[in-house]
Amino acid sequence: MQEYIRTAGTITVEEAQKLALYHPDFGYYVQNNVIGRHGDFITSPEISQLFGEMLAFWCIAQWQEAGSPDTIHLIELGPGRGTLLQDILRIGAKQEGFLESLTISCVEICPQLYEQQRKNLSEYPFIFWYKDLQEVPGGADFTLVIANEFFDTLPIRQFVGHEERSIRFSEAENNLVFAPPCNPNSVKESCPLAINLMQQILHHLSPGAALIIDYGDDTPAESRFGDTLQAVFQHKPVKVLQSLSFADLSHQVDFHSLRNMCPNNRFQPQGNFLLRLGIEQRLEKLMSIATPEQRFALTTGATRLVAPTEMGQRFKVLEVFQ
Ligand code: SAH
Repeated sequence: MQEYIRTAGTITVEEAQKLALYHPDFGYYVQNNVIGRHGDFITSPEISQLFGEMLAFWCIAQWQEAGSPDTIHLIELGPGRGTLLQDILRIGAKQEGFLESLTISCVEICPQLYEQQRKNLSEYPFIFWYKDLQEVPGGADFTLVIANEFFDTLPIRQFVGHEERSIRFSEAENNLVFAPPCNPNSVKESCPLAINLMQQILHHLSPGAALIIDYGDDTPAESRFGDTLQAVFQHKPVKVLQSLSFADLSHQVDFHSLRNMCPNNRFQPQGNFLLRLGIEQRLEKLMSIATPEQRFALTTGATRLVAPTEMGQRFKVLEVFQ
């Protein structure tokens, strides 16, 4: 990647992320096993089955509120290892009529994760895969869209004043550097890809509901400052410029801009959302039939998902209804 930028000259932060993540030869998502204990980062569905189970309750509730239509189109953006869908489908199978009505579209760009999803979900014949939301057929009676830790992976633009922030190779420092030099706290960010994706999601929800879960904030644009781009390699933060194409890149999602596009939405921290859906009651039920080892995993998992000091407050849930 360093050589690529050296040859190309200056490229924008957004372009650098696109290359680092999706380039067919060296893109992070193209070549790596990214998720799970042996990957670079761990996500809520991998922490505890309770997460996917709560999302299953949410899907069923939306479907029932819509009058239990005969066909449901569930779209998941970036399904990772397919764990979330496995948990949703296990709970969904207990709800009469739900699974029978379901068609699922998975949108996945990473070939390795696509393989894992196919393997882990092989018992369900009604799942189809696409590389881009634009390819997913629309026109269903009722659509549900789920995106967990997907929006934070989308490349962002950064600005210093009116100038777009770029990356170039510095001969003097023999390294990649940001241009122009600036205080990271003065950087402004925008994510045109997220706005475009949200438009597409809204188009699919006619009618339906979407669930977008990510770390981020609801700060209005005028007071939203700071470089939030971060890189994680094998569960540890690393320097963005030194790890392009082999570390996971993410940013804090600008929920304010997304909410502005959705007339009917609800926004709350992940902890509150999971408590509202009954995670405590479900935990109690599972504990009563669990082995001591499972009990430990269940309680530590639930705490990690809900506690304000862990993911409960930092992660946010945007529900969109249409
Ligand atoms: N939702 C999963 C995985 C989150 S990681 C979970 O919670 O465990 C991000 C996921 O989005 C991965 O599956 C990654 O391969 C996929 N992804 C990232 N950018 C993408 C893009 N532009 N198009 C499609 N899939 C993408």
